[in-house]
Amino acid sequence: MTDHALDCTRCGACCFGTHAKYIALLPEDRGRDIPADITTEADGRRYMAMAGGHCAQLCRDGDRLVCGIYENRPEACRAYRAGSFECSRARQHRLHLAEAMRLPIAIPGDGLDPPAPLVEPIAAAPETALPEAWALPPQGRFGRYEA
Ligand code: SF4
Ligand code: SF4
Repeated sequence: MTDHALDCTRCGACCFGTHAKYIALLPEDRGRDIPADITTEADGRRYMAMAGGHCAQLCRDGDRLVCGIYENRPEACRAYRAGSFECSRARQHRLHLAEAMRLPIAIPGDGLDPPAPLVEPIAAAPETALPEAWALPPQGRFGRYEA
């Protein structure tokens, strides 16, 4: 069940993960414009590339966190429901990381870099051929939370 009281752009916890295989691409994703160069391959399957402890497509938009490929986000992300058990677990363990990215504490003169700008959504479809690994049967289809 979706919890409409939760605003995912004010959260972002479930886009954080430490494992390179956190977000697996599924056969349903073959028709989506997910460029191969924002994914990685491991053990014959493809995964969303991670960076900085979160999916590399997660980016700041003002004081929100948004998905840079929202319209083409993978099936695993679409199946992830706000207010679900997995959502609660992600918020319990990862919300502080998302908060740190969403609302960085700026102290004048501390030398910290300014917040990262919004990454432009990816408009073009990949020209590369669809990796064979995308057609493999899923293993743990929606198990993208690995705490
Ligand atoms: S953890 Fe839950 S509320 Fe937060 S972004 Fe994910 S689905 Fe939305
Ligand atoms: S593809 Fe988008 S929704 Fe999915 S984990 Fe990455 S940033 Fe989050």
